[in-house]
Amino acid sequence: MASRRSILPDKNPPLQTVYDAVLIGGGLHNLATAWFLAREHGMKSVAVLERNFVGYGGAGRNTAIVRANQRTSENVPLYKEALELWPVLTRELDFNLMFYNCGNMNLLHSEAAIKAARTNVATARFLGVESRILDREETARRLPALNMSDAITHPVHGAMFHPPGGIVRHDAVVWGLARGALRQGVHIHQRTEALGIETKNGKVTGVQTSAGMIRTPRVLVSAGGYTAGLVHRMTGLKLPVSVLTIQAMVTQPLKPVFRNVVSSGAYHVYANQTLKGEIATGAHMDPWPNTTTRTSAGYIKHQAEALVELFPCLAGVKFMRSWAGLADMTPDMAPIMDGNLPADGFFINCGWGYFGFKSSTAAGRYMARYLAENRCPERLAPFALNRFENHRLMGETAAPVLYTPDN
Ligand SMILES: Cc1cc2nc3c(=O)[nH]c(=O)nc-3n(C[C@H](O)[C@H](O)[C@H](O)COP(=O)(O)OP(=O)(O)OC[C@H]3O[C@@H](n4cnc5c(N)ncnc54)[C@H](O)[C@@H]3O)c2cc1C
Repeated sequence: MASRRSILPDKNPPLQTVYDAVLIGGGLHNLATAWFLAREHGMKSVAVLERNFVGYGGAGRNTAIVRANQRTSENVPLYKEALELWPVLTRELDFNLMFYNCGNMNLLHSEAAIKAARTNVATARFLGVESRILDREETARRLPALNMSDAITHPVHGAMFHPPGGIVRHDAVVWGLARGALRQGVHIHQRTEALGIETKNGKVTGVQTSAGMIRTPRVLVSAGGYTAGLVHRMTGLKLPVSVLTIQAMVTQPLKPVFRNVVSSGAYHVYANQTLKGEIATGAHMDPWPNTTTRTSAGYIKHQAEALVELFPCLAGVKFMRSWAGLADMTPDMAPIMDGNLPADGFFINCGWGYFGFKSSTAAGRYMARYLAENRCPERLAPFALNRFENHRLMGETAAPVLYTPDN
C-alpha cells in the first residue's frame, strides 16, 4: 500500500473557504482529474479531500495490471486511451510510473473458451487494439514454465494474447499524480472527510467537511468502494453498485518465472511477476457484498493451489503478504460517470470494480473536461446512470445483478 510518508507534505495546506471544485476521495481517479483540471483547463482552485491518506483505497491496493482488451465498443476506446497515456504522463509528470509493457496472456481452457475469446479479439482489433489468439504450442513457447499436461483440472488449449498491456507501479501513479497536482497549485487535504453537500435552488453550493465548510459550485465524488454509501448519505440517491471485497497476495522475490501478466478465468487466478521478482496474484472477488478489507485463509489456499497447478515450479514458494480492498461493481461491470445528479454541479465517477487502475488516467482526463465545461464529453455519454433505467446496459461481462432498486 502507498505510505502516508510519501511525497506529500505532512501538514495540509490551509483549508480555503472557497474552491472552484472539490473532489472527494484521494484515489487514482480524483488525483488524475485534479491534475488534468489544472493542467489542461487552467482550473487550479481545486481541493482534493481524502479521509485517510492518498492511496489508501484501491489506488494503493491494486495488482497494477493494465490492458485495453475490454469487451465492448464503449469501453475499449477508453482503456486504449488510458494505456497510451502511461508514457505520456511519465514524461509530463516527470515521474517514473514504471510502465512495464510485458503483455497480457489470458489462458483459455476449452475450445468453447477459444471461440468466445475470438469475439473479444475481433472487437479489440476493430477498435485498433492489438489482440490475438495463440494456439497451444505458441502459448507453451511463450510461457515455458506453464503446465501443459492434459492431466490437470483445466488443461490449457491456448490463450488470448494482448501485447500492449502489462503492469504499472501503482504507488508511483499515486505519488506522481499527487505531486503533479500539487505543483499545479491543487490543494490536497489528507485526513479530511467529506460529510455532506449543500445545495440551493437545485445547484451545489458547498461541501461540509470534518475541517469546516467549503463553498463551491462543483463537487465530484470518486471514492471507490465508498462512493455509493457516501452519495446516498449526501444526496439520497441510490446507485446500482454492490461493494465486494477483492483479495491479493505476493510471494517472495524469485528469478524470472514468466514474463507476461497471466490470467485464467477457469482457475479464478491472475498473476504477474513484478520488477522485483515477486509474483503478485489475485483471485475473483468474494462472492457476496461486504466492506471488509481483511484477507481469508480460503483465498490464500485457493491461490496457492491454482498457481502451483499452472506453474508447478512455484511449489514451496512462500507468500509474504496478503491484503484486500473494495471493488464497487455495477450490474454491467462498466463504470458510472455522470454529472448534475441530483443537483447541478454534482458529479459521480464510480463503479470501476477491479478495472479502475488501468482506466484512471483517461477517466480522470474526461471527468476534468466534464467539470470544466459542464458538458458531458461524447466518450462518457454511454456511462450515464440512466442507462440502468433505459435498459442500455453494456454487458462488459455477465456480472451478477446484486442490486435491486429497493435494497
Ligand atoms: C486487491 C485489488 C486488486 C486490484 N487490481 C486491479 C488491477 O490489477 N487493475 C485495475 O485496473 N484495477 C484493479 N483494482 C481496482 C482499482 O484499484 C480501483 O478500481 C481503483 O483504485 C478505484 O480508484 P478510485 O480513485 O475510484 O478509488 P480509490 O483508489 O479506492 O480511492 C478512494 C478514496 O476515497 C477516500 N474516501 C472515502 N470516503 C471519503 C470521504 N467521505 N471523504 C474523503 N475521502 C473519502 C478513501 O479513503 C480512498 O482513499 C484492484 C482493486 C483491489 C482492491
